[in-house]
Amino acid sequence: MKFNTKTIHGNQEHDKAYGAVMPPIYQTTTYAQSTPGGHKGYEYSRSANPTRTALENSFASIENGTHGLAFGSGLAAIDAVMKLLKPGDEVISTNDLYGGTYRLFTKIFEGFGIKFHFVGMENASKIESYINKNTKLIWVETPTNPMMNIIDLKATAAVSKKHNILLAVDNTFATPYLQQPLDLGADIVMHSATKYLGGHSDVVMGALIVKDKALADRLYFIQNASGAVCGPQDSFLVLRGIKTLHIRMQRHCENGKAVAIYLKKHPKIENVYWPGFEDHPNYDIARAQMKDFGGMVSFTTRGNDYKEAVRIIENLKIFTLAESLGGVESLAGHPASMTHASIPKVEREKIGVVDSLIRLSVGIEDEEDLIADLKQAIG
Ligand SMILES: *Cc1c(COP(=O)(O)O)cnc(C)c1O
Repeated sequence: MKFNTKTIHGNQEHDKAYGAVMPPIYQTTTYAQSTPGGHKGYEYSRSANPTRTALENSFASIENGTHGLAFGSGLAAIDAVMKLLKPGDEVISTNDLYGGTYRLFTKIFEGFGIKFHFVGMENASKIESYINKNTKLIWVETPTNPMMNIIDLKATAAVSKKHNILLAVDNTFATPYLQQPLDLGADIVMHSATKYLGGHSDVVMGALIVKDKALADRLYFIQNASGAVCGPQDSFLVLRGIKTLHIRMQRHCENGKAVAIYLKKHPKIENVYWPGFEDHPNYDIARAQMKDFGGMVSFTTRGNDYKEAVRIIENLKIFTLAESLGGVESLAGHPASMTHASIPKVEREKIGVVDSLIRLSVGIEDEEDLIADLKQAIG
């Protein structure tokens, strides 16, 4: 089965009771047993719920994995991965990553005795010098948030395999429409399903997908033992979202490209970060591992003028100033004060998150309207 068909049918079956084409929202916590232990596969909805199972099967299908797990948020999914580790273990992570992930790593898991190395991974060979006998996990985001750096997943997987270390990839920005990290050698794919998978800015959810039964069992144990699951209603909504992922992503990519090209030519704009430019430092890797370049575009104002950035953000009419990304509607964000406020200023400026940086999540409206909005806002 090819990808577009998988988003709709992958690992799905019609409901056994009445043939419902969409799985019912099994809004129940518990399940009748005929005799102690005599149940039909479901006992208690923290452990499993049929609507969640339908979604988890879809997650596994679209990422070419064997097992999917759905969580109450993206961060809850990352939290579950970190619980594979023990005090004294070390993690090598991308240095340009989602602010909430950085906060979880440094403010929660460092306190539990896990050591993190935040490394620029644009060149995979750099990772090796941080590896020692305690290294258990490599954590990668690509494209990175918000600087749109591209990390070579195949090369990174070669390093992780060589040293027998788990490789986890946050695939939130790219989605499996653009890249499938398990096929490139990753062990775990993570999503904030809040973003493109849900796609309509109405559900907070996380996902993990793996291709190995033993690892799936360990993560399932953590999911059930720690309890950060999502509800059946949210599972239904994200399953519905996934069914249009491929056509939404196609339009996100088209509009993202139009916006990136428009901004790059604009005299009042200094830098535009988008992996589809031929002068992007890892353009060739982006071309090789991604089907297209996505709908996320970041830019700075001429001379890194913060006031000018605020003026532009406030003038935008179709782009809404808001946290989050990946929904059908276009959003604009100011990473330094919003998504990345939890990263100290010196740290964030080292990676390019300067005060005038604006991040756009380009939606699926008409391209002409989006360009006209940017035009009137920038002037
Ligand atoms: C939003 C986001 C997260 C966190 O997910 P939540 O669903 O908000 O908990 C993690 N990684 C990336 C890249 C994100 O954009």
